[in-house]
Amino acid sequence: AEYLIEVDGLKKYFPIRDGVFGQETGQLRAVDGVSFNIRKGTIFGLVGESGSGKTTVGRTLLGLYDKTAGSVKFRGEDLHALRPKQLKALRPKIQLVFQDPYSSLNPRIRVGDAIGEAMLEHQLCSRAELREKVLEVMKICGLSPLHYNRFPHEFSGGQRQRIGIARALILQPEFIIADEPISALDVSIQAQIINLFSDLRDDHGVTFLFISHDLGVVEHLCDDVAVMYLGQLVETASRDVLFERPLHPYTQALLAAVPTLDPDSEPVAMVSGEIPDPSKPPAGCRFHTRCPYALARCRAEIPLLREVENGHRVACHLV
Ligand code: SF4
Repeated sequence: AEYLIEVDGLKKYFPIRDGVFGQETGQLRAVDGVSFNIRKGTIFGLVGESGSGKTTVGRTLLGLYDKTAGSVKFRGEDLHALRPKQLKALRPKIQLVFQDPYSSLNPRIRVGDAIGEAMLEHQLCSRAELREKVLEVMKICGLSPLHYNRFPHEFSGGQRQRIGIARALILQPEFIIADEPISALDVSIQAQIINLFSDLRDDHGVTFLFISHDLGVVEHLCDDVAVMYLGQLVETASRDVLFERPLHPYTQALLAAVPTLDPDSEPVAMVSGEIPDPSKPPAGCRFHTRCPYALARCRAEIPLLREVENGHRVACHLV
């Protein structure tokens, strides 16, 4: 398979500061040795509870956070080894779509101008060509030309997410990191945004890292999936294998708790017990404090992520 993204041993630690002088008293190991590859033209789902470190993975990939260790390759090139000039040229190719695009939209800038802004910033087209390019991506994202001169507050949540996606898409990215892009939207709107993502993959060859806590959506949309717990991957596989034959006790617990698509139902607590403090992760297997199968060995020995069948990797002593 041809990989667009190769992540190897990625770590991101944040200092924990305390006391009058802000002394460093510890480290938050938000991402602690994560490796995965994303095939070109596919959607890779990264799943976990809040506090698992999945958002930090996305931001570190993008270079918004400096990594602590490890490497990230884009089209075979180490992103962190590039010179500033090379990195700048690559910047438009990797885009981020947030949960709440409204926070990144200037309320006084008309939507069409907001979508086109980055094109001018990166000097990718002239002002004269801009309007046409903006209208083109607005169409792909299901926005009407009539929306061009409107202001962000005139739009619903779903339309604002389309604007956020249009802003990313106009730069013709090869890779989009979508961090919980639909969790703030109504279920009916969620479906439309999901369809837009699959069209972008199928018709425009865009590759995605789709970060989500929603397994129902991930099963529907993603080609490959990785499950993250307390800064580490516990299982990765193709979508079909992961959902049909989950092997890690954490993945099994998550899947057993997938809520129904009933918009009125409260989200179910996915796994019993609280996720432990990431600054003091449990020794051995990090999941042992919540795992129903934990053995003495699990408290002492770290299970490595091992391949159990073609492309299916699991980190558990029982498997
Ligand atoms: Fe549970 Fe042990 Fe497997 Fe960890 S290694 S998931 S504690 S059985």
